[in-house]
Amino acid sequence: MRKQIAAANWKMNLTYQQGEQLIDDIFNAGIHLKEYQQAVFAVPSPYLVMAQSKLSAATNYFVSAQNCYAKKSGAYTGEISAEMLHSIDIKYCVLGHSERREYFSESNQMLAEKITICLEYDITPIFCCGEPLNIREAETQNSYVETQLRESLFRFDDEQLQKIVIAYEPIWAIGTGKTATTEQAQEMHAHVRAALAKQYGGQVANDISILYGGSVKANNAKELFACADVDGGLVGGASLVAKDFIEIIRSLK
Ligand code: PEP
Repeated sequence: MRKQIAAANWKMNLTYQQGEQLIDDIFNAGIHLKEYQQAVFAVPSPYLVMAQSKLSAATNYFVSAQNCYAKKSGAYTGEISAEMLHSIDIKYCVLGHSERREYFSESNQMLAEKITICLEYDITPIFCCGEPLNIREAETQNSYVETQLRESLFRFDDEQLQKIVIAYEPIWAIGTGKTATTEQAQEMHAHVRAALAKQYGGQVANDISILYGGSVKANNAKELFACADVDGGLVGGASLVAKDFIEIIRSLK
């Protein structure tokens, strides 16, 4: 069974104290994660060490950064490097979230560089892809997402690719309360897997976890995660409420 992951993306929300409380509440729910299931918390940078110290001893709970810079080190004021994340034992980093693409002009090329440096430091990128509404309306979402995969991922070899987690997040569904239907999610996830299979072969494609993101809630997670090619979710709003995220973790296959 490939990894099934419930990943929380807190974005720029919560105070330090609220973040501590949220992690405690979720962890203290005592959810038993199977060996192939993971709960991941992408917390704001100032909370990484706190989250890591709370979860480092817990099996299958991981902390993620929400971004990092493509350069190794140097005069890049305000940025965070993969080496820094590695030095505090962070195992995941969200890359290419649509908000970073939109507000910080992150290109597919730049993301390829960020993925490269994360892999160098043994950090698993959670690579986000997904189409805006006008592309969905024009029914060209498959080729749009394929281009994102080709330009950011297809330079990596089999071994590197297998260390990457993909999150398909249709932009029209992020933070809008408008979730993709299970049919839309499954169709795109199968398309992504087929594109990976074409490039890397079926075995490699079959091992990659592809998460769905876009208004995943406690009341729709089970149905979405049950889709054959959906391996969990990247969750924004609902990950800020302990009881909702607990339910979402419990919805993993
Ligand atoms: C996200 O932040 O990646 C996301 C999918 O947000 P939401 O769950 O709030 O739509």
